[in-house]
Parts: sequence; C-alpha cells; structure tokens
Amino acid sequence: MAVKCFFSFYLILAAVVIGAVNSEYIEYNTKPRIVPEKINVHLVPHSHDDVGWLKTVDQYYVGSNNSIRGACVQNVLDSVIASLLDDENRKFIYVEIAFFERWWRQQSKAKKVKVKKLVDSGQLEFINGGMCMHDEATPHYIDMIDQTTLGHQFIKSEFGQVPRVGWQIDPFGHSAVQAYLLGAEFGFDSLFFARIDYQDRAKRLREKTLEVIWQGSKSLGSSSQIFTGVFPRHYDPPDGFTFEINDVSAPVQDDPLLFDYNVQERVNDFVAAALAQVNVTRTNHIMWLMGTDFRYQYAYSWFRQMDKFIHYVNKDGRLNVLYSTPSIYTDAKYAANESWPLKTDDFFPYADKPNAYWTGYFTSRPAFKKYVRDLSGYYLAARQLEFLRGRNSSGPTTDMLADALAIAQHHDAVSGTQRQHVAADYALRLSMGYLQAEKLVASSLSFLSAAKSSTEGKNTGTKFQQCPLLNISYCPASEARLSTGKSLVVVVYNSLGWKREEVVRVPVSSENVIVKDASGKEVVSQLLPLSDITLRIRNEYVKAYLGRSPRNTAKHVLAFTASVPPLGFSSYVISDTGRTSRGPSASDVTSGSMNQNVEVGQGNLKLFYSEEGLKMTRYLSTRNQVTAEQSYAYYIGSNGTDKDPQASGAYVFRPDGVLPIKSEGEAQLTVVRGPLFDEVHQDFNSWISQITRVYKGKNHAEIEFTVGPIPADDGISKEVITKLTTTMKTNGTFYTDSNGRDFIKRIRDFRTDWDLQVYQPVSGNYYPINLGIYMQDKTSELSVLVDRAVGGSSLENGQIELMLHRRMQHDDIRGVGEILNETVCLPEGCKGLTIRGKFYVQIDKPGDGAKWRRTFGQEIYSPLLLAFTEQEGDSWINSHQTTFSAFEPSYSLPKNVALLTLQELENGEVLLRLAHLFEVGEDSEYSVMAKVELKKLFHNKKISQVKETSLSGNQEKAQMEKRRLIWKVEGSAGEEVKRGGAMDAEKLVVELVPMEIRTFLIKFDDHIEMVGDSDRDSNNLRE
Ligand SMILES: [Zn+2]
Repeated sequence: MAVKCFFSFYLILAAVVIGAVNSEYIEYNTKPRIVPEKINVHLVPHSHDDVGWLKTVDQYYVGSNNSIRGACVQNVLDSVIASLLDDENRKFIYVEIAFFERWWRQQSKAKKVKVKKLVDSGQLEFINGGMCMHDEATPHYIDMIDQTTLGHQFIKSEFGQVPRVGWQIDPFGHSAVQAYLLGAEFGFDSLFFARIDYQDRAKRLREKTLEVIWQGSKSLGSSSQIFTGVFPRHYDPPDGFTFEINDVSAPVQDDPLLFDYNVQERVNDFVAAALAQVNVTRTNHIMWLMGTDFRYQYAYSWFRQMDKFIHYVNKDGRLNVLYSTPSIYTDAKYAANESWPLKTDDFFPYADKPNAYWTGYFTSRPAFKKYVRDLSGYYLAARQLEFLRGRNSSGPTTDMLADALAIAQHHDAVSGTQRQHVAADYALRLSMGYLQAEKLVASSLSFLSAAKSSTEGKNTGTKFQQCPLLNISYCPASEARLSTGKSLVVVVYNSLGWKREEVVRVPVSSENVIVKDASGKEVVSQLLPLSDITLRIRNEYVKAYLGRSPRNTAKHVLAFTASVPPLGFSSYVISDTGRTSRGPSASDVTSGSMNQNVEVGQGNLKLFYSEEGLKMTRYLSTRNQVTAEQSYAYYIGSNGTDKDPQASGAYVFRPDGVLPIKSEGEAQLTVVRGPLFDEVHQDFNSWISQITRVYKGKNHAEIEFTVGPIPADDGISKEVITKLTTTMKTNGTFYTDSNGRDFIKRIRDFRTDWDLQVYQPVSGNYYPINLGIYMQDKTSELSVLVDRAVGGSSLENGQIELMLHRRMQHDDIRGVGEILNETVCLPEGCKGLTIRGKFYVQIDKPGDGAKWRRTFGQEIYSPLLLAFTEQEGDSWINSHQTTFSAFEPSYSLPKNVALLTLQELENGEVLLRLAHLFEVGEDSEYSVMAKVELKKLFHNKKISQVKETSLSGNQEKAQMEKRRLIWKVEGSAGEEVKRGGAMDAEKLVVELVPMEIRTFLIKFDDHIEMVGDSDRDSNNLRE
C-alpha cells in the first residue's frame, strides 16, 4: 500500500512541477444518446420515497422526526428540480404522487411553468404514478385501481401526461393482478421491480431470464401482457456508485491539482460493474438504478458524479453511458426485436433467504387490514351516492376518504409493516375521511328519500345516523330507548348491481321489538342475546376509541331480512310493542357446559358440536357428504436464537413449532335457534371464542371469531391460525386469489418456474388471501372466503388454514426496528389487541363453488349500508320515498358483472367501471360473455357521450391500444383472446368477456334530475 501511495503522490507532484496540467472548468458531455452497436448503460436517477413507514407521510415530507431517520422529501424535490434546470441532459423519474402533490401545491407560478417544461421535455418523468407504490399482497384490486387512478388524474390534469411504466421496486412479492390489471390495462409498456425469491433470482441470473413477458391472467392471456424486468439484485446502484452526501462510494476526482486523482480507476470500476450485469442481461442495454430510499436530498452530489461518469466512460469508449429513464430503456429493449420468455402466475411468496419467507405480513395488523377493507367498500357505496345526489364541491365529499385510502395501500401501510405511530396516523386519516364520507352518505340518502312529497318542502332534512362500530354491536341510534309513539327507521342501501336479500343485525335495548317494511307489513325478525365476550369488547373498545362508555346497555341483537333493489335502498321500521311477553321473534336460547352433543342447521349443512370441537357436514347428495373439522392453533414464532438469527416478525413468518388450542375446562356453548338462522357461541379459552351461524336457505357457515388479547407474558411470539380438516384427496393442490380477483393454482412445495429447495415447509407455502382459498377433489370442493387480507395455505391434503392474528416478541431485522405488538390502552393500562372478524365456509360439488365465491364474495366486499332515523308515528314513512333503485325498474346487472366504480369527477364527467366477475371455464353458466345496458343503468338521465378509456381513465382506450408496444414471446404466446366488442353508439350495450374490466367516461345532458324535483342547493349539505 505504501508503495502505491508514494507512487501516485510522485506522479501528481511531478505534474505540478513540470507545469503540464491545468485545473479548469470541464464541460462534461452528457448528451443522451444510444449507440446501437455498443453496450448501453442506462443511468436512471430515482429516489424511493415511502409514503409512511418509520415516520408518517407528512414527517417524511417535511423532514421532521429526523432522529428516527434523516429523510425529507421536500429536499429531494427541491434539489432535483434545481439540478434538472442546471443541465438539460439530466433526467429524473418521480413515482409517489402523494408526495409530489404536497410539493406542487406550494410552488410559485413561475416555478410551475419551469417544472412543466421539464416534464414536457422528458427530463422529469412520472412513472407508476399512483398516490403511493401500493403493496401487492394485501390490497384489494379495487383499492389498487382507485389509488392509481387518483395519481393518474393528478398527472393528467396538471401536466397532460400519461405514465407508461410500472415501477413496483420495493413491494415484497408481486401479484398477477399487478401485471395485467395494474399494468397492461393502464396502457403500461413495462413493469419493473426488485424483490423476487432468492432461488428464483439465482436461476434467472444464470439463464438470463430476469426480463420476461408476463401474462398475469389466464382469462385475458396475451391480450393483457406486459414486458417485465426484475433487477439483478436490488433497486440501488452497483456497489461503489451511491453518492448521497454521507454515502461512502469514492467520487470521481478529476482535478489534477488535487490529491487522489482517480478518473481511470473509477472508469475501470464502472466498466467492470457494467460487464458483470451484461452477463445476466439480454440485449446490449442494461439499466442502473441510480438511487435508493430517500436519496437525492442533495441531488447535486449524485448528478455531479453521473455527469463525470457519462463523460469519462464514453471517452474511454468501451461502453456507452447515458442519462435515461425506464421508458427509454423499455423502448431500447423493444427496438432490439427480441423474443422474451413467457411468465404466468405470480411472484409469491417472496423469500430473501432460506429461513426468511415474507409471509407474516399477509396477516400483520389484522384490525387495520379490516378497517381498510371496510372503508374500501364504504367508499365505493359513498361515491355512488355522491353521484346520485350530485357532486357538491362545497362538501361534504368523498375526496378526503379517497386520499386516506390511497395512502393506506402503500407497501408499508395495509401490509402492516410500519411503526406503530405510523399505523395510528394512517388510521386517523381514514377515520377523518370516513367522517366526511359519512356526512355525504347521510345527506345523499336524505336527498334521495325526500322525493316522495316534495310539496311539504321540509322533508329533505332527515338526519341520518350510521354505526361504524356495528362489528362490536355498538350503535347509539338503534340502542336508544324509543319514547312512546316513536319508532326507528332503518334505510338499507345496496351498492351492488343486483337485488339482495340479506340478514341485517342491529343491537337494541328492548326485547319487545318488531320490524315492519315500508308498507307496514311485519317482517320476520329474530332477537338474540349479546355474548359476554361481545359485551366486554364493546365496553372496552368504545371507551378506548371514543373516550366514553356506551351510554345504553344493549342486551340484544335484532336480526331481520332486508330485501333491497339493485343500487338502491329499502326502508324498515323498528318499533317497541311495549308488551313484555316475548313475541314470535325471540330465539330459543340454551346455554351451559357441553355435556351432550349439539347439532344445528336445518338444511343440507349441519354443524355438530362435541368435546372434540366443531364439525360441519354438507350433504351434497344421498351418497356424497363431506365433513370438515375446525380447530385453532398457534405457531410459535422463532426467536432467532439458533444458528440463523432470523426471527419471526412484522414481515417474516418463521415458525418454530405449532401448538393446538384446546378448550380450557368444560367447553361452554350457547345455542340459539330462530326463524332466520341458528347460531352457536363457543368459548375456547379466555382469548379465543367464536360464533357459528347457519342461515335458513343458505349452504354456507359463517364463523365470527374473536381472538385476543394474545397472551405475551411467556415471552413467546404467537401466530394464531384456524384450520379446517377434511378427508378430501387434494393432491397438494389448492387455489388462492390474486388481490381478490383471479384465482391461482398453488401446489405445495412446488414452484412453476424453478426446482424449489424446501427449507420452510410451512411459511414457504403461505400465500396472500383477499377473497378466498379453495380446494377440490373428485367429489367435492371446499371454499373459504375472508373479510380482509390474511395469509393462508393448505399444508396437508384436504386441509386449509388461515392465519388470523399475530403478536410478536422480536423484530425480524428488515428495517422497521420495532416489534409487532399491538395493544389497546384503557385507563387501567394497555393490553394486547383483540380482533374480531368473519370467514365463511361452503362445500359444493366440484365446479359449483365459483358461483358462491364470486357472488357472495362481492356481497362480503360490499355489505349493506345502514342509516337510521327516528320518526313520530308513521310520519317519515308516509312522507318519504322508502324504496329506490337508480336503475330502470326491474333491471339489474347480470350476476357475473359488478359495478366497480360509479363516480362523478370534479369536471362533471362520470367514471364508470364494469367488471366481469368470472374467469374462463370457472362456471358453466357464468363464464360467458355478459352484457350491460347503459341506458337502463342511467334510465332517468340522458347520456350525451360515452368514451371508453384505459383502466385509470387517463386516455382513450383506442389511443392506448394504438400506442401499445407489441412484444414477441418465445414459443407460443397462447390463444388469442377475444374481448368485448366496440359499443354501438345508439344501443349503448357494453359487452364483457370473462375477467374483463371496462372503463368509461360518460357525459350526461344537464338539467335532467335523477330523482324528483328537489332543489339540490337547498339541502342540508352544510350541517
Ligand atoms: Zn419502500
């Protein structure tokens, strides 16, 4: 070493002494150019800015709370823009619109003009373009579409631009839905990311198959494919080329008057790193990701070095280096006219090491995951009602909820991998957005129900209350003791496009209640006791979250069947009969310890309870019956003290044994039989209980579980599962959904793309579930549907398990630096979080399950929305419109079509999305072309223009198809898929083939009121 140092010192000294060297301004040649015959290194300057993780989104933006992490996105945008303005050859991509939008609104007019020029010239390019870079395992596809649409709308309205590249560089595994729906259907030409299984990556590096054509949907095949690039390692530069102020890479030192002149040495380093990448990449184009998390806070430090590398490496001549973007890179790949390997299915699960499967986060923060899902369904309904009422920019609107939900899809939000204070921030935003939307819903229902006798003038003033805490049986509106002569009106709104009959449940204080429909006819109802566990969590959580104890003491739940038209509502009246004798609505209740076997269910599904637990038997025919046993257990999360320090944590699931949960003492059962359904309350131990329901005329079991607080005193991480065990011969095969849409075939201990080395037989077989999981054999099919994102698997033939809750004792060393240990805090102290949720089980003949999974799945996502108001006598019912459907009378959507979006945009246009719910071959009746008549959807309005667009509504579909790059695939690209045909401008009938989603922007002729003749502006919008 000493010799070398002396040598370079000598050289410099000599140069200075002989005066041959000058130090002066060097004009770096950074002009962008591709040289086809050379190896081209595309430098892509980027910053990965998490929309919340260790800090909240706003803390990251303004740069506060820097003791946690020195990160300020404002610095990134300020300094990047200045650097781009300094040199027109420099480029930068920006991804997270939640941050950009915060920055943009505070810029001067003059600055905005300059930035628009940067965008127009391509120096600054928006890619991906959603509000955040959403997770791909735990969000619902409707949320993914919505959050991306919000960002795309911003980019379109402020810059007139349409992003053309998907950029999911950090999410922990990649979904099929991301590729085809959130990629190809947006008109993206390519998709890039970093994280795939380490074994998969090793093989792809060897075989140069990191870049593929990905067909994510079996049904849509080559009509919805996308060029996809997996980075050779991570989304940062090769070692030695990171240049944030405190990064340790050696800068290019090209001033001969200074010590350590290193131009040739650094050029050699650059060439070596590039050639290493060339060895694993097809074509002579490679991409370097010049940036990583929260970089470019002082952008000059990066651009200065890149200017020099481009200048000196190009002078060296072995390579060609240029400032680039993923779009330029994509075009270069396309121009190479290669055929690419075909990829189907998805990239789940993700492991970065043998014992590190990132499958724990499929379940992490289950209560937050449910909150996101609940509000997703509510947002869909609220936008419909906002449209039906007419959007009013002076509020209330759904905009705040839209923003909060968008951010909640981030890959450290709904994934459950953020710090606790950040989770609280997301929840706060959601609840604020909900409160706005709740007002909007109330005023819309008030408006729509007011139309009946508008001559009275005052009937638009109905004050509706709603009950977001119904899942813990808390609803002040329905619990209030009704004074004499008063009754409670329940307006039940259905956001689905087909008619529904469904049991709704509300807590009540009196046991002498009856329910009538709007015509005054009594409907069958059922009164049930509130379980002890429900009363406990009701009292605790109302206190914890609302800061007060429930005022009333609801003791019962009243259930009745509501029958509601499509996209509309029905009204019901609950009144106190005053009679003390129990009416026909009462349930037959028996409870006590289990000393004899119990059987419930009067149809083809029967539930048996014995000391061994619950068995469900479905009688499919006289000779064909299937029994599933249900049980609970927990995995002991590894504490990482063995040879491999990997612990189970917020991201990683690494089990170290499993323990069954047996009933403590004598199992306590309460059996409730009634006219609408039977239910059984079971307590397994002090922290697990459940209620199982079998509805009359339905073939599924509904299981409502309550889990928590998970004991932590023993220092053991616990990951709680429920299991269904049958004797079905499933041959290692099961099916899980992709973001609630396509089902993907899974085979235990097997991957389609490589020979799997199994080190983690449990967590390595876990998959994300948003809609459901099912398995089949020759005689039957068992499906489980869920109410939120969870992890699940089939680890043995005939068995399915779901992970419901986790409480950990260790961090899993993936950066969050905090133990996932959720608590609820009461005045007397904090304890582990209790969660409550539902899953649904149905057993069918083979091939019959899809009908239920698809239609009932839609009902789970879009529960009936309840709004309450009081009336004197029959005054409200007599003076209001008590039933309503936005459709033409008797029209409804076919059962294989869902209305994903009906939303009035700020410019008055209406965004409509229609989705076919079935895959090709999934159901003999429903996997066929479906038709929707727009005129019947909007029967009281005159449609003046319908434009079909990309999925995010930011470009006309025809233009998008014209611009799209057509890629070549190695071997066969599969059969051509026929899509729904172009719409006839007169007939306005939309055709949808299986799994197709079509998006339209619709204009209506003004001055035609949907409902009645009420004056919109005179309503109680500003209450
Ligand atoms: Zn990230």
